[in-house]
Amino acid sequence: MTDAAAESRPPRIRKPDWIRVKAPTSVGFSETKALMRRLNLATVCEEAACPNIGECWTKKHATVMILGDTCTRACAFCNVKTGMPRAVDKTEPQHVADAAAELGLEHIVITSVDRDDLPDGGASQFVKVIEALRRTTPNTTIEILTPDFRNKADAAVEAIVAARPDVYNHNLETVPRLYPTIRPGARYYASLRLLESVKKHDPSIFTKSGLMTGLGEQRLEVHQVMDDMRSADIDFLTMGQYLQPTPRHAKVEEFTTPQAFGAYGAIARAKGFLLVAASPLTRSSYHAGDDFAKLRAAREAKLARG
Ligand code: SF4
Repeated sequence: MTDAAAESRPPRIRKPDWIRVKAPTSVGFSETKALMRRLNLATVCEEAACPNIGECWTKKHATVMILGDTCTRACAFCNVKTGMPRAVDKTEPQHVADAAAELGLEHIVITSVDRDDLPDGGASQFVKVIEALRRTTPNTTIEILTPDFRNKADAAVEAIVAARPDVYNHNLETVPRLYPTIRPGARYYASLRLLESVKKHDPSIFTKSGLMTGLGEQRLEVHQVMDDMRSADIDFLTMGQYLQPTPRHAKVEEFTTPQAFGAYGAIARAKGFLLVAASPLTRSSYHAGDDFAKLRAAREAKLARG
């Protein structure tokens, strides 16, 4: 986005009261931050300016972002910096495992920047992180939130699924009509296919995907995305309010009310997702450990029903 385009936009809409969060000040927050610095790890919590950082880091829940802090894409909603990333850090997988051990995590979420510059898109680093976690903290359940591995998805998914994460998450982010402006480097149906292929390779892995609201999507378009997700056998849908990280990013078209999130959640559950989390502050990794326990319980209940 150019400076001129950013300047020509109307002012941002004021945040409603239901979206406000407290500034992070707790001891747990400071300790989590110090640990990430010491192990030289980036987090999406900081890089994406997540509003939940005070709450999550107080509980020592952080989502590690591997493969550096610089992304090869420039999505209109995302605060992560764009550029030419550094070389892959060979010590990173063990550092992630050490962080999980020190934080005492029962469940960890690992994500990454897009690495279109790498021959495998970064898939082998996900595999190494999963292996290091299995060695170091074998009781920690593992959730990965991957990029779309543009033009490399088949091989990338095959390699990662073979390492057996517990949850495979890939966010569709928005409705297909908005992809050219919001997620220009990605293809909606390629992302859907990626998630579908995870289930085909290993049906025991939970699949998960997320949508942002407030970018100009229509309600019926969101319902269609839910149907597409169910056709791809996605288990868990997360939905949360998009927040504009800086004036240079896509503006918020609308603040979705808590009641509207409730309605989206009811419709999604009726469409057959095992689990739905939909609220203004829901993010992919928000309460991910608690939700993993709910996912397992929902699957067991479904199997018991036959
Ligand atoms: S919701 Fe996820 S990204 Fe945001 S602070 Fe919590 S763990 Fe980090």
